[in-house]
Amino acid sequence: MKAAVLETLGKMVVKEVPIPRVDDNSVLVKIKACAVCGSDIRIFHHGNSRVNPPQVLGHEMAGEVVESGKNVTKFKPGDRVAIGADVPCGECVFCEAGIGNNCQINYAMGYQFAGGFAEYVLLNRIVVNYGPVHKIPDHVTYDEAALAEPLGCVLNALELSNIKLCDTVVVIGAGPIGCMIIEVARRMGATRIIVVQRSRPRLEMAKKFGADVYICSSEEDGVARVLEETEGLGADVVITSNPSPEAQIDAIKMAKNRARVNFFGGLPKTKSLVTLDTNIIHYKELFVHGAHGAMPIHHQKAVELIASKALNIKNYISHKFVLDDILEAFAVAEAHTGMRVVVNP
Ligand SMILES: [Zn+2]
Ligand SMILES: [Zn+2]
Repeated sequence: MKAAVLETLGKMVVKEVPIPRVDDNSVLVKIKACAVCGSDIRIFHHGNSRVNPPQVLGHEMAGEVVESGKNVTKFKPGDRVAIGADVPCGECVFCEAGIGNNCQINYAMGYQFAGGFAEYVLLNRIVVNYGPVHKIPDHVTYDEAALAEPLGCVLNALELSNIKLCDTVVVIGAGPIGCMIIEVARRMGATRIIVVQRSRPRLEMAKKFGADVYICSSEEDGVARVLEETEGLGADVVITSNPSPEAQIDAIKMAKNRARVNFFGGLPKTKSLVTLDTNIIHYKELFVHGAHGAMPIHHQKAVELIASKALNIKNYISHKFVLDDILEAFAVAEAHTGMRVVVNP
């Protein structure tokens, strides 16, 4: 089969490799769509402690089951499935507690397990038993289903932020994830959604997702404007969905007393030591928390949301490439000029 193999840092080669062999407990899926995530680009350039090259990246995928082991009862050839990233080990203290995205091993597709930038992907026993693999209805396309992975991460994040009816929510960073936050927060009851974004073209692109206020923070002071929009009080929920330390510093200044502040976007390793005025957290009694990945249940709910057309998931796909052009797909994704870039192997 054809696969895009990350051979060393910065070197990904599309080449022929053997099709993985199915054992009694595993499943082979023919990949129809795999979207490029910011983390794929980070791994491509800087590596990751959980990725040991040569490896096939890609964790936002969908495809068709073509073969299943004799012990597998959940899936059969012909099933159309969406596949997410984080795979609970099923046995550690966190997996037992039902929070598999906090798993101590933190297996993931496209990390320890080969991912979706290939014609086929193997779902091993752990993935089949505990992983984020969910059937999709016929009316959902593979391209759409691939985006259940990032959407699932958004569902996990917003659940942790405990979005409530009539909340004012600030989203800092209007990439595809930020735009998904707008739409899901609205569904969860937020009545006022304020988007803060540095780049003007990116902000303009986010306008079709229906937030109430759009602030371009390279043209005006984002913190001052959020306070002005909230009668000086700040927002009930502030979520950072970008890799910027400044966004975290600003987030606590935009928060209302007792607000939830979600550092959803991870920072580059060299920039994650951030100086915050913790007295703001102290006096405002803020709840500052993080969010990372998703549990299989979030992936399943994301599939349901996409199937129900609660979000028009097509709006999140701006480019499509064949596998041979994966380097171009990565370059387009890295340029941040569009939304999600989908590769169709
Ligand atoms: Zn992703
Ligand atoms: Zn575990």
